[in-house]
Amino acid sequence: MHTEPINLLGLDAAALTHLVGQWGGKPFRARQLLKWIHQRGVSQFDEMTDLARDFRAQLSEHCVVQASPVMTQQHSIDGTRKWLFDVGQGNAIESVFIPEDDRGTLCISSQAGCNVACRFCSTGHQGFNRNLTTAEIIGQLWWARRELMQDQASARLAAEPDATGLAATSADPRVISNVVMMGMGEPLLNYEPVVAAVKLMLDDNAYGLSRRRVTVSTSGVVPMMDRLSQDCPVALAVSLHAPNDALRDQLVPLNKKYPLEELLSACERYLKFAPRDFITFEYVMLDGINDTDQHARELIQIARRLHCKFNLIPFNPFPGSGLNRSNAARIRIFSQHLVDAGIVTTVRKTRGDDIDAACGQLAGEVRDRTRLSEKMAAQKSIPIKEIRA
Ligand code: SAH
Ligand code: SF4
Repeated sequence: MHTEPINLLGLDAAALTHLVGQWGGKPFRARQLLKWIHQRGVSQFDEMTDLARDFRAQLSEHCVVQASPVMTQQHSIDGTRKWLFDVGQGNAIESVFIPEDDRGTLCISSQAGCNVACRFCSTGHQGFNRNLTTAEIIGQLWWARRELMQDQASARLAAEPDATGLAATSADPRVISNVVMMGMGEPLLNYEPVVAAVKLMLDDNAYGLSRRRVTVSTSGVVPMMDRLSQDCPVALAVSLHAPNDALRDQLVPLNKKYPLEELLSACERYLKFAPRDFITFEYVMLDGINDTDQHARELIQIARRLHCKFNLIPFNPFPGSGLNRSNAARIRIFSQHLVDAGIVTTVRKTRGDDIDAACGQLAGEVRDRTRLSEKMAAQKSIPIKEIRA
């Protein structure tokens, strides 16, 4: 009987230990495997030289290490990178890498599409296609990290042609220092696979990121926020977007199920277990909709309840949204109201504008996939070779 090979990318430490145990292997074999796969980015079992030959043969027979195929990759002039992954049956998901002076952040997706259907989000406008598996979620990090390390190694080699052997090993494995689940999809509506992926991100034998450097962003799935606080309390960002139920019901339809009062109580409970002593509230700035002085005053009342920071996100328009971005002066005044009330407030910089890599724009045209690929190929993708030259 033919069975599908097991994709080891999808197994966290516990699952891998279980699998290896079934074959009579000791737990340290699982740790060795984790290191080969996630730290060294190796996918071929015969390259895993410190594993016994018959164990490697067993792995080759039953398992693979495979990220989703990349459809396109783009490189912005500001260093932002974006990968579009094919997750089958015409579905695509995106990941974005944003380099900054003191960190490198990878933004990854948790679902193909999303059924929360927020008014201002192009992923929401696509509808829901399906949940991603753990392998597809962690595969985005696995792939991006490998690519970025290879790029670093090649750049070093170009700079020091004699350093051949050293170049590859001197690439910085911490090139991705932070992961945010702010790509496509609502992570807390795909709970188990997301938590398994997050556990791999935190595992010292895999990516070894601290809980403060992994952020789950949610539109407010209250029961799952409570579960996350128990299972895997990482940094939490909550998409607030409105200071009262009447408006939030319209912008984030999930609010009808979990209204503000419940959401804020869940945030307070989460804070008891969170790795940081604040919740980040994301607030998309929509011209004339949620950006008036009165809205700012209402928000300040909310902020008095719990320790929080605000991240104002200038709305990223997409065709057919019927919404506009608040202008820069309005965003400044709004932000100043919050700051004057003693609330730490940042305005998200738009990055990767030339490759549509901003929040809410991810795979916005994915339903029209063939044309999307053509468009990317024809106009937007800058071939990697050209960039290096
Ligand atoms: N589903 C999760 C995480 C993915 S969305 C959530 O909603 O939190 C990540 C962030 O991008 C959220 O704060 C979301 O509200 C915001 N966003 C979505 N569409 C946007 C757009 N068009 N412009 C700016 N931000 C947007
Ligand atoms: Fe889904 Fe988040 Fe987009 Fe809302 S903002 S539709 S929850 S991905």
